[in-house]
Amino acid sequence: RPNSTSFIGLGRMGSEMAYNLFSKQLAQKPESRFVVCDALPQSALSFCQTFTATFPGANIEIVDTPEEATLASKMLITMLPSSSHVQAVYGTGIIPTLRNLPADLAKQTLCIDSTTLDVTVSRQITLEVIATGASMVDAPVSGGVTGAKAATLAFLVGGTEPSFQAVHPVLSLMGQRIVHCGPQGAGLAAKICNNLILGVQQIVVAEAMILGQKLGLDPAVLTSVVGSSTGSCWSMTVNNPVQSALPDKSPPCERDYEGGFASVLMEKDMGLATSLATQTETALPLGDAARKLYSLMIEQQPDLARKDFSSIYRFLLSSEKT
Ligand code: NAD
Repeated sequence: RPNSTSFIGLGRMGSEMAYNLFSKQLAQKPESRFVVCDALPQSALSFCQTFTATFPGANIEIVDTPEEATLASKMLITMLPSSSHVQAVYGTGIIPTLRNLPADLAKQTLCIDSTTLDVTVSRQITLEVIATGASMVDAPVSGGVTGAKAATLAFLVGGTEPSFQAVHPVLSLMGQRIVHCGPQGAGLAAKICNNLILGVQQIVVAEAMILGQKLGLDPAVLTSVVGSSTGSCWSMTVNNPVQSALPDKSPPCERDYEGGFASVLMEKDMGLATSLATQTETALPLGDAARKLYSLMIEQQPDLARKDFSSIYRFLLSSEKT
């Protein structure tokens, strides 16, 4: 079982993360081997084409299944949409394969799951991985596609101290801030709380931008004032949904809200927060309202579902007209 790295899930985030990881591993060890796997063969193929265009001699292979990815490498990284995908990849692929490996080989395996998913599901999967002798951490990320591309992501890690120490050098090749949040599931808990704030903020920024413009404010003036005032936040100063709000076009407007963090994924994260709130008997009045608004947007305007979640601005504008 060669000393290679397998990356499963080459979507918007995974493709950027794998690119940084592989290129830096290659610089450290030119003999490095890489394995990629995605349910959409085209995603794995286009990643390989991009990577080998820059690194023509790279030893990179596409495999069709998580089983093959597990057999190929001691280091497994998954970056999937959500709970059901992680359950499928680990439950029917990685875990049974680890169980069938000789104990010493299973023990050498390190799994890093960077998906944002349900904490309970993640903890259960981690227990099953650990029972095979392998190690696993949850390491969801903050920083979006821009951070993934620039290798400036924050990794929020849940796991034992030895596992954290083992994954730190790998995560450092894809991110800037690697935080040990606590035991298994703690990284996800931190990530879900962060996205609860973000999901609400992006809506209220859209509301303020609409109200401000109706009151005759120039979007650029409003953005600049809020950006240096107590209402400042990333949704205002970076992910601003209004075309003329920032000196350079804001990231979502520049690409007509394509790419970025899909509305469906934000709706999923708000759902993760509200379901954890139910389990822990926590009141989330704003989180509940925000989740309902994202769900309504996806239901009423499916064309916005895969666009960046800042397209909630468009939805609010169009809802006013109807
Ligand atoms: P994405 O949908 O672009 O990518 C997911 C990839 O997983 C796709 O290529 C898909 O084909 C693949 N996949 C699905 N099921 C699979 C399976 N069974 N086997 C192999 N591959 C499979 O999603 P994304 O935007 O890259 O987000 C990934 C995760 O990161 C999500 O949990 C999301 O919440 C989180 N996240 C995203 C952002 C962002 O800005 N996009 C930021 C922070 C965190």
